[in-house]
Amino acid sequence: MSTITFFGGAREVTGACYRIETPGKNILVDCGLMQARENERDANHAPFGFDPREIDALFVTHAHIDHIGRIPKLAREGFSGTIYSTAATRDLARPLLEDALAVAEHEREEPLYDERDIEKTFTLWQEIDYRAPREEYGVRFQLRDAGHILGSSMVELWVEGKHLLFTGDLGNVPSELVPPPDSVDAADYLIIESTYGSRTHEAPAEREIQLERAVEDIAFRKGTLLIPAFATERTQDILHLLNEMLHFKRIPEMPVFVDSPLAIRITEVFEKYPALYNQEIQKLLFEHPDLFQFRRLKFTKSVEESKHINDIPGPKVVIAGSGMMTGGRILHHAKRYTRRGG
Ligand SMILES: [Zn+2]
Repeated sequence: MSTITFFGGAREVTGACYRIETPGKNILVDCGLMQARENERDANHAPFGFDPREIDALFVTHAHIDHIGRIPKLAREGFSGTIYSTAATRDLARPLLEDALAVAEHEREEPLYDERDIEKTFTLWQEIDYRAPREEYGVRFQLRDAGHILGSSMVELWVEGKHLLFTGDLGNVPSELVPPPDSVDAADYLIIESTYGSRTHEAPAEREIQLERAVEDIAFRKGTLLIPAFATERTQDILHLLNEMLHFKRIPEMPVFVDSPLAIRITEVFEKYPALYNQEIQKLLFEHPDLFQFRRLKFTKSVEESKHINDIPGPKVVIAGSGMMTGGRILHHAKRYTRRGG
């Protein structure tokens, strides 16, 4: 008989980590960081509740930190099985795990893992494509597109004649870049997330109009439009929208800066996997291969370059990491511009 145990990601929205025990093998789905608990630091440092050495395989649904954040800790504590995900998830995971370590060191917190654990993690990682069933350990498995972020997957497992479906985070309304989730006809057991189950997101068209108005307004006032954005998906969404608006001359040209080293690395991964975009974007790419590149767009990697942004007269747009957790450049810009009132 097989058993599913929830070691996080149940009765809470972060820290996803599910174990499936089959007669011969132990499988995990996701190994995320707990972020919403009051004592989250202790919770993340606490033992897993199982022996990492006894886990044979780990399936990773997608590269959000609440689904990947404890993987190097798993490797540190003896896990040496195989990690399976799409290639895009693997490539996104690396900069995010390195960034989380850098942030912990910067904040002088005790890190969950070190560089060697990250190295080990990626030697264990194997990529698999969507809709390409495989069988190992007497378990058949397959990934399906979850339509959440680039490379995101649902994990299907067939264990002892039962069909299990782990959706991971599902969909991403409004999504500019990725296709809608694959549909799955049937499953015996469905493990589904419901983080935003009670919330309705604003429509994509509305977001686009808000962005257009904000850029027009800043052009008129010769000011600085500061956009705090998550490094994954949001930054690329915004770049694509600005690119499109510029192309159709809906907004005037002005300097645009992506001022987050993490967002820059993530954008490079996005550029590597055009085949994963939705049909509309694929069509667009055919005519305009540079989805995230346009005249007067600058990616500022170094702190010096970042500071230099202040010397550029407005109007201009600065997209920076949102909040302390992503390096905090947005704060340094916010302080400067809010003080000057413009
Ligand atoms: Zn997610």
